[in-house]
Amino acid sequence: MNAHTSDFSLAVEGVNGYCPAGEAYAKQNIADKKIPVLSCEGPCIRGEIARLAANLVAQEVPSHARACHAETFFVPHSAMARWVREADRSIMIDGCFLKCHGRVLKKLIGEERMVHIDALPLHKKYSDVFLMDDVPEGEHKEVARQVADKIIAMLRNEQGR
Ligand code: SF4
Repeated sequence: MNAHTSDFSLAVEGVNGYCPAGEAYAKQNIADKKIPVLSCEGPCIRGEIARLAANLVAQEVPSHARACHAETFFVPHSAMARWVREADRSIMIDGCFLKCHGRVLKKLIGEERMVHIDALPLHKKYSDVFLMDDVPEGEHKEVARQVADKIIAMLRNEQGR
């Protein structure tokens, strides 16, 4: 089995329109100079931990706010995409070493403007579980809390430098 894919590109169907709520939210974050925090997400438990941890980081670190990775990647004319493209830097929390969303973001904004975090080594759990529904919900939150605490400490450490 081939365990490698070289760089590749994918043509994506175009789109019309805006998400009104997303536009207002992203424009406010642009005005407030917030640092976007993006993540992957479930149904995989690793992605769900990343998503929950990203929410906590954005809620608890001043000047950070959650951004939608999908709108950023797939609606290039949106304010969400503009916010991420123009921010000084963005935080991407991926669920595992495959770093799916960060690999896209890296091409979009450049490696030097992103902090790319693999959440898996921060909790070292669930190597044999896929579905988030196979892990009790309380545990999702508990593990995400642990991951978020480590990321928050890292960001505060950076800010204090
Ligand atoms: S990095 Fe990719 S494979 Fe890993 S949890 Fe996220 S979406 Fe899933």
